Amino acid sequence: METPAFLDRDRPDVPDLVVPGGVTPFYLQGRPVRGRLVRLGVLTDVLLTRHDHHAVVNRLAGKALALVAGLAAALKFQGAFSLQIKGDGPVTMLVADCTDTGALRFYARTDEDALNTLLQETPNPTDRELLGDGYMALTVDQGPDTDRHQGIVDIAGDDLAAMAMHYFSTSEQHACWVYLCCTMTDAGWRAGGLVLERIAGEGGTHVVGQDDADASWETATILASTLSTREVLDDTLAPATLLHRLFHEEGLHVSHPRALAYGCRCSRARLASVLEGFDTDDLDHMCQDDGLIVMTCEFCNIDFRFPRKDIAPRTA
Ligand SMILES: [Zn+2]
Repeated sequence: METPAFLDRDRPDVPDLVVPGGVTPFYLQGRPVRGRLVRLGVLTDVLLTRHDHHAVVNRLAGKALALVAGLAAALKFQGAFSLQIKGDGPVTMLVADCTDTGALRFYARTDEDALNTLLQETPNPTDRELLGDGYMALTVDQGPDTDRHQGIVDIAGDDLAAMAMHYFSTSEQHACWVYLCCTMTDAGWRAGGLVLERIAGEGGTHVVGQDDADASWETATILASTLSTREVLDDTLAPATLLHRLFHEEGLHVSHPRALAYGCRCSRARLASVLEGFDTDDLDHMCQDDGLIVMTCEFCNIDFRFPRKDIAPRTA
């Protein structure tokens, strides 16, 4: 039986941090538009600084976190919503996920030599230059006994927001408009974004014609395009105030905000269970000279150490 997390005293310290108003959902009354304003706040800094990535990789990772937070908040699911990007650029793998309760985590794998080469030529590379060519997948994972919903598209566009919009235009039915930002501020790393989705018109108070719906969607995206990084990442500017600035003439209705949190689900018990799935030879091979097997959580950048003698394979 697995040790419940709260009894798992050997779990290394990870931040117990919640950002109460991390995601602010809203819709435009009578228009085919709903959206989420995302602001990770101090959580950005806590998540990014657990790793030793270059600032350009942090900027990309922060935007990936804002994206999964903004997309997950619109879905009805229990489990994890994840973004995976695998390309042939210096960032070889980027994974970010968000649970139904707003728990966020990420990891990135980089080819340091390739990254240094790129940075010598291009000190401020685009997301595309970091990722190269490859694919991007969005997955809803609701546990081992359920189907995983997955959509995969080629990496297209210069930045992560464009890649996400490309994903929605090719693999989903509805249009999506995405703005993402991440930067180092006086208060540390900050990331955020705005996601607009075009929904079927039945949500409004009156039935709008197709031309009206097209015009409303276009107006909303034009207004959203006026957003600046400074506004999105300004912790002192209330999300509702910012949304009001953009959409006050468009029937803005702000819904209850949702919390975001530091959210890795790694635990000593879970990793021990993974080790018990290996056979004796594999375990002996993994064992270091000091008699320990080290398992690293790539999300938290934490090493868990298990004495080899304490691990018994399930199938001896
Ligand atoms: Zn972890």
